[in-house]
Amino acid sequence: MTESTMMYQPLLISSIFSQSVINYPAAKVISRAIEGGLVEHRYDELYQRTVALARCLQQRGVQAGDHVATLAWNTHRHLETYYAVSGIGAVVHTVNPRLFDEQIVYIINHAEDSWLLVDLSFVPLLDRIRDQLQHVEHIIILTDQAHMPAGEGYWCYESLLAEHDTELTFNWPSFDEQQAACLCYTSGTTGNPKGVMYSHRSTVLHALSSCMPNALNLSQDTVVMPVVPMYHVSAWGVPYSGILSGATLVLPGDGMDGESLYEIIDASQADLLLGVPTVWLNLLEYLRDHDRRMPSVKTIAVGGAAAPKALVEELWQDHGVYLMPLWGMTETSPLASFGSRNAYAEQLPVSERMEYQCSAGKNIWGIEFSLIDDDGQPVDRDGESSGNLNVRGHWVVDHYYRSQSSDSFTQGWFDTGDVATIDAQGCMRIVDRKKDVIKSGGEWISSIDLENAAVSHSDVREACVVGVPHAKWDERPLLFVVLTHPADLDKESIMAVLSERVAKWWLPDDIIAVDSLPHTATGKLLKHVLRDEYKDYLKS
Ligand code: AMP
Repeated sequence: MTESTMMYQPLLISSIFSQSVINYPAAKVISRAIEGGLVEHRYDELYQRTVALARCLQQRGVQAGDHVATLAWNTHRHLETYYAVSGIGAVVHTVNPRLFDEQIVYIINHAEDSWLLVDLSFVPLLDRIRDQLQHVEHIIILTDQAHMPAGEGYWCYESLLAEHDTELTFNWPSFDEQQAACLCYTSGTTGNPKGVMYSHRSTVLHALSSCMPNALNLSQDTVVMPVVPMYHVSAWGVPYSGILSGATLVLPGDGMDGESLYEIIDASQADLLLGVPTVWLNLLEYLRDHDRRMPSVKTIAVGGAAAPKALVEELWQDHGVYLMPLWGMTETSPLASFGSRNAYAEQLPVSERMEYQCSAGKNIWGIEFSLIDDDGQPVDRDGESSGNLNVRGHWVVDHYYRSQSSDSFTQGWFDTGDVATIDAQGCMRIVDRKKDVIKSGGEWISSIDLENAAVSHSDVREACVVGVPHAKWDERPLLFVVLTHPADLDKESIMAVLSERVAKWWLPDDIIAVDSLPHTATGKLLKHVLRDEYKDYLKS
């Protein structure tokens, strides 16, 4: 073997910010403060604050390998925490505050977190669970002295930073790139959440690949706003890929409603937004009701669930915005595939472009897809045949944190639990979660396709389809709808819209109006709740 003559430098998260601050010192981070109002920092100011935090944590005893948890929104302080904690070799564990209290306690104890940084909004939550946290020794409230809550044993973030803000340089430690950097738990719909421990290497490679032109297409000219939360899968890695690219980073804080989002989009002139479909449906409703526009926005990246066609259409026709679909999961860091905007997509006939925008796009470099049947045999990539989607790559989970289970891991591949098709061009489409596919008379019905067809009806705000037992067909679909304006349910008109879009035998056996649908903490439909509740619905 001939040895290369090239340098080796470990891929470390600290290098992202320490190099970008030199090249883009004046680039901006605009953030909604939890105390109210928008705050703006240059990269060099924010880097300085990050260095101050890193020094402070080290001096107060945070060691390499320690676990530092956060309960926080997308803010500049959370961003500083991301870089300072991982930069000194500790692990930043972003905890999802929207989970049930018991799950939050389980996660923090399972991760053996010893430090906890908490936004003001989550102090009531902290007060409820504090006694049950087995390993947490130090708690920092992410605010200034004037806003510190009453309570024993809390440190004030801004006061700690002020102790260290005079030293300008910092030697970030160097260590193995495979060392753990960030921890995120899945928001599984059943059982306890499972931990995915990202490494420095996986995080840097994920950031590098996801800012490429066929992916997020980030550069110093981009004004990017992740609405997807920093407490779940690192806001799809944008805190890393954005800084790496020198982009203006816009962080919406706790303002997730339509009005607050509009305000920060307008103030920052954001051009690329990222988030799950529900967020954009709410924003569009606000824009419609208040006759507002968002001319700066060019692209909205949508993942976490399939994009409904109605959303693609409204964004394109009314706002000239390209909905860029993407697919990923906690176990894939999360970004794996993109339906990027390109000349090929633009020249497609409208209906085909819509199909493309409702797909999950093509896998980016660093991620491989494999489509197999239940016997492990390859499934044709013809865009029609569906199979179990398996993935492998540089930022895909190898095993769960502190878990012996090898379920989902086979011969170097991770079984995503998603059923998908892939076409000859490599474009992937999620048919359903494996456990949500409806098996009717031996054939499969996609609950996702039916839901997307249902929300194209103007009366339907949200839809959920589940399969329930049926004497003759094994399972049949039931459609649950939340109506836009609680009015009389017009089943016939909804069925008519569905009939235009799906095969006759896919039509649901009934349509049921509900006030709201059950969701997980990350906004996914909790279908098993409805399946259990309605399991006898078609038996009588
Ligand atoms: P999470 O780990 O919470 O990010 O959830 C990951 C799951 O969300 C995936 O396994 C998919 O089932 C679903 N998902 C993510 N992106 C998409 C997409 N573009 N289309 C359909 N489902 C998606």
